[in-house]
Amino acid sequence: MKRSLFVIAILFFGMLATGSLFSGDGGAAGIELPKLPYAENALEPAITAKAMGFHYGKHHKAYIDKLNALLADSPLKGETLEEIILATAGKDGSAAIFDNAGQVWNHNFFWKSMKPNGGGEPGGKMLDLINRSFGSYAGFKKQFVDGGVAQFGSGWVSLVQKGDKLEILKTSNADNPVARKSNPLLVCDVWEHAYYLDYQNRRADFINAFLDKLVSWDFAEGNLK
Ligand code: MN
Repeated sequence: MKRSLFVIAILFFGMLATGSLFSGDGGAAGIELPKLPYAENALEPAITAKAMGFHYGKHHKAYIDKLNALLADSPLKGETLEEIILATAGKDGSAAIFDNAGQVWNHNFFWKSMKPNGGGEPGGKMLDLINRSFGSYAGFKKQFVDGGVAQFGSGWVSLVQKGDKLEILKTSNADNPVARKSNPLLVCDVWEHAYYLDYQNRRADFINAFLDKLVSWDFAEGNLK
């Protein structure tokens, strides 16, 4: 008994010392840049290491740094990303925090929406839901690509769950499924910085590559409620 208490105490102080007790959203260390779930070159050739390096290491990191700077003097410091997004969505004077928190959330979710050797038609429960919601996988794919292409300017195209059906959600700039109170399954970045290095102006080719080569259907299925 004494020994197990000792082990717990060691673990607790060990976590305290390494900061892992506070490494979640909004802890004492602030909002942290999550580690990519794969190597920067793991999604090649669909996304090159060069494009990933800029996107993750520069764009995503910049949103995190800016958000932490904005939170320093805000009562929202210490809240989770989701709480920060919900507290600032549509509020006068909160646009800068909303935009940076939204972009951090969107990118965190986007990296997890992909995996090496992903993409293609899912099976099982996801395919049943897709067939019920869009008629067929081809019907889903057309709506997702068309949605991303039709998003004027910067933004995101997402697959979300509404009750027992799935829907395509288009959002501008930093707007996101959390702010829309939708349950997100997958998100795809359609800002030019997401595809310009690899695809130049061919946004549709990038979204097709996302669906054909990258989507993590395991992640999408794990997000079902
Ligand atoms: Mn981006």
